[in-house]
Amino acid sequence: MLGDTIAAVSTPRGKGGVALLRISGDRAIEIASRVFRPKNKKALSDCEARLAVYGEILAPDGDGAWQAVDDGIATVFKAPASFTGEDTVELCCHGGMLLTETVLTSCLAAGAKPASAGEFTRRAVMNGKMGLSSAEALGNILEASTHEQLKLAHNGMGGRIEKKTEAIYNALRDVLASIYVKIDYPDEDLADMSREDIIASLENCEKELCALANTYRTGHAIAEGIPTVICGRPNVGKSSLYNRIVGRDAAIVTDIEGTTRDVLTETAALGRVTLRLFDMAGLHETSDPVERIGIDRAEQAMREAELILAVFDGSRAATQEDFDLIEYLAKQNATVVAVINKGDVGDMDEPLYAASFANVVKISAKDGDGMDRLSDCVEKLFVDGSLDSRRDAVLTNARQHAAAVSALEAVRHALDALQGGYPIDLSCTDAENAMSALSELDGRAVSEDIIAQIFSHFCVGK
Ligand code: GDP
Repeated sequence: MLGDTIAAVSTPRGKGGVALLRISGDRAIEIASRVFRPKNKKALSDCEARLAVYGEILAPDGDGAWQAVDDGIATVFKAPASFTGEDTVELCCHGGMLLTETVLTSCLAAGAKPASAGEFTRRAVMNGKMGLSSAEALGNILEASTHEQLKLAHNGMGGRIEKKTEAIYNALRDVLASIYVKIDYPDEDLADMSREDIIASLENCEKELCALANTYRTGHAIAEGIPTVICGRPNVGKSSLYNRIVGRDAAIVTDIEGTTRDVLTETAALGRVTLRLFDMAGLHETSDPVERIGIDRAEQAMREAELILAVFDGSRAATQEDFDLIEYLAKQNATVVAVINKGDVGDMDEPLYAASFANVVKISAKDGDGMDRLSDCVEKLFVDGSLDSRRDAVLTNARQHAAAVSALEAVRHALDALQGGYPIDLSCTDAENAMSALSELDGRAVSEDIIAQIFSHFCVGK
C-alpha cells in the first residue's frame, strides 16, 4: 500500500563487500532511527539530508534489547528529493548473508512492511518522480545484456519518451481548446487557431506520432531482441556460426552429422541488433527419436522466428536438402538472410543463392571472415540507422507502441473529418482519444492492472 513504509535489500542476495537496504515512506526516518545509531550522537532526523552518516546498526536480541550487529552508513533523503519522492533512508552494512537478513528483519521489527517487486520504482512513478516509460527503461537497464541495450535504456531513463509525448499532448490540448471555443462561440473570432491552423497542427502531430511509432521497429530489435533461428542441413556450420555470434563455444561443433540435438537459446549482439538466438538440429528427416524431438522443436522455433539465418555450405554443390530448404524458406514470413559458409574453402552455387534470396552474405565461420558483413546486413534490416540510441526517443515495448499507434489513429481520424469538411466539433472526441492514449504511454493515466504487470518484472528492492 502506498501509505505504508516499506523496506527491502536492494543489492543481490549473496556474500559481498557491502549490502544496501532501502526504507521508504512517511515513517522511514523514525524506523531507521531504531535500527541505526549515528556515532556523532545526533538524532538521525537532525542529520543533514543526502549526507552519509557513520554509525552502528542495531538488531533486537533474544530478550528484545537492541544491540549493535555491525557498523555502517545511513543516508537520509527527505521527501520529495528522493528516488521514490518519499522520505527514504538508505542503510549500508557489510554484505554478509545473515547480517543483511538480520538488518532487514530489524527494519520490519521497527515497523516497516516488506517491499514487493519493483515497489520503490512504482512509488517513484505514482509520486510523479518519473514517467512509466522511464521506469520501464530502468527495468531494461537491469536486464541489459548488450551495450546497445544499455545505451538505449539509459537514454530512456532520462524521460526521452515522456518529453516527446508531452510536446504532442500539449499541441493536441491547444487544438482542443480552440475547437471548444469555436463550438461555444461560433459567431465570434475568439479561438487562438483558425480551422487551417488546427489542420496544420494535427498534421504535425500525425507526422510526429508516425515517426515515434516507427521507432519501435528499432527499439524492438535492440531492447526486446529478434527471435532468430539458424537453420541449414547438417554439417554446413550452423553451430560454428552460433558460436561466432555469441562469442564463445556454446554449441557443440563436430563433423558428425546430427550432433546438435537440442534447441539452445542465448541472447547476443550482432552489430546494434540483439538476437534471441535458437540453434537447433538440422531440418532433415531422421529415424533417431532423440533427434526427431530436436527437429520438432526446431520447426516450432522456425515458426516463431522473425529472422532466419539460413546456412549453406559454399565449399560443396547444393544438395537436394538445400533445394528443399530454399523452397521451405520462400514460404516463411520471417526475414531470411542466406549465409554462405566455408568461404575459406570455396563459393559454389553463388548464382543459385543470389537468385533465391534477397539477402545473401558470404562468410567463413571458421576464421570469422565476413561476420562484419553479416552484422551490417542484419543491422540494415532491423535498425533505422538515423536513430541514435543515446539521444532519440525510441519506443522499446509493445505497450508503448500500441499506445502510440492508438494516438496516431485518433489523430488521423480527426484529420480525415476536418479535411473532409465535416463540422469541427466532430474532431473533439478523436483529439481527446489521442490525448488519453498519450497519457497511457507516459503513465499519467494507465490502469492499475498494467502498472502491476509492469512492476511484477522488477526485482524486490528496486
Ligand atoms: P552444423 O552441423 O551445421 O552445426 O555444423 P558445425 O558447426 O558443427 O560444423 C561442421 C564442420 O564444418 C566442422 O568440422 C567445422 O569445423 C566445419 N566448419 C564450420 N564452419 C566452417 C568454415 O567456415 N570453414 C571450414 N573450412 N570449415 C568449417
